[in-house]
Amino acid sequence: MSSDDSSQGTGPAQDADTDVDCARALERMFSFIDNELPGADFAEIQRHLDECAPCLGKYDLERTVKALVARSCSERAPESLRQRVLVHIREVHYRFKTD
Ligand SMILES: [Zn+2]
Repeated sequence: MSSDDSSQGTGPAQDADTDVDCARALERMFSFIDNELPGADFAEIQRHLDECAPCLGKYDLERTVKALVARSCSERAPESLRQRVLVHIREVHYRFKTD
């Protein structure tokens, strides 16, 4: 029962690391979506999105809006959907700032 204990070492230091990664990931989110990141950074963000549900959610949101905006050039996106996405983005941004 106690064989696993020694390998765990100190307490939950992972939380602090995750916070830093989230800030970095969000900072580079737009560059990531636009494929403007160098390979190493791109892989780093991608790995973070794999492990971090909140950031992945935000990434999905940004990508959805980008796709909506891009598509609205040729065909019109439903206004109701657009409004809903925009409101949701504002909520996420707000929540992140006050965090
Ligand atoms: Zn994150």
